[in-house]
Amino acid sequence: MLEVSDVSHAYEPGAWAVREVSLRLEAGRIGCLLGPSGCGKTTLLRCIAGFETVAAGGVRLHGEVLAEPGRHMPPEKRRIGMVFQDYALLPHLSVTGNIEFGLHALPRAERRRRVEEMLELVGLAEHAGAYPQELSGGQQQRVALARSLAPRPRLLLMDEPFAHLDPALRERLLVEVKQILRQLGTTVLMVSHDPLEAFALADRLGVMREGRLEQWDDSYVLYHQPVNRFVAGFVGRGAWLKGIVRGDGGIDTELGVARGHSAESLRPGAQVDLLLRPDDVLHDDACVTTARVVERSFKGSEFLYALALDSGARVLASVPSHHNHAPGERIGIRLATEHLVAFAAQV
Ligand code: ADP
Ligand code: MG
Repeated sequence: MLEVSDVSHAYEPGAWAVREVSLRLEAGRIGCLLGPSGCGKTTLLRCIAGFETVAAGGVRLHGEVLAEPGRHMPPEKRRIGMVFQDYALLPHLSVTGNIEFGLHALPRAERRRRVEEMLELVGLAEHAGAYPQELSGGQQQRVALARSLAPRPRLLLMDEPFAHLDPALRERLLVEVKQILRQLGTTVLMVSHDPLEAFALADRLGVMREGRLEQWDDSYVLYHQPVNRFVAGFVGRGAWLKGIVRGDGGIDTELGVARGHSAESLRPGAQVDLLLRPDDVLHDDACVTTARVVERSFKGSEFLYALALDSGARVLASVPSHHNHAPGERIGIRLATEHLVAFAAQV
């Protein structure tokens, strides 16, 4: 298990790139850090990998201390694998050569066996002799993955591994990579700036802001029970609707009473902003409450509608794509909240 406790790091005195970050990741789990550019994601990975020292706090892996102030296990001793955004494959080595690269310590026969196993795992057995530049982006990324998994790391760190791939390829590779990691039972901490990618891969998610980890939770909890507006806004689409908390725990809004369970107890009478995800707003032709279609974007099996309410407030609705309504039309809607995410209203 990976345990990061209160880790801080500054590249220059006083400029904290990572501030008091704590997280735990159980063995075999995939965790993902999200957050805007410059919030400290890469720095945190580098502290865990051992490329940076920690100014405060500690990093432990399976109970062993890797880093503390004044104590720094060198990266090559940590048995942590790393996959970077730019693959960092060695151009003069074949696929086999690249995968073999970190296996010098193993006897030859064992090394061969490990390489074959990895080639099989990532589906590149027939490209064993190819050079990186002869491979597609997706294949190169699979070589990078095989290379970092070959030494059987105790933990795999991946820094925006799919950022350079085109969206269609990325979606396919995400599924493959997840299967590979699950098959090996590898513990993974990755970084992404794309919430959809994070949801597709990870069991545990974190959102960072200005060096701090704002929340670290199961993916489902983070999406449905974000601890603040920043996290709520970062992990998915949604709109804020004004409401007033009722005595029975529901929230009165322009669209009727929103009900569902809430992580925090809401004070009756309080004015709140309620987060509505696109799947919290249902389109129903039978509804008397209507909203005007402002924008319609086609997502394949569904439309994402931006809707204007009578008050001028906007909400989003995810609607099966056989309900095709043009901008300007009025369509019936109702609330279907399961979780209430509400924060004190901002004035
Ligand atoms: P992210 O990966 O979330 O985009 P980084 O960890 O790369 O963020 O950067 C966090 C902060 O640390 C930023 O303010 C960045 O400018 C700063 N930083 C990153 N690397 C260095 C470095 N080598 N030297 C000085 N400052 C750095
Ligand atoms: Mg980064």
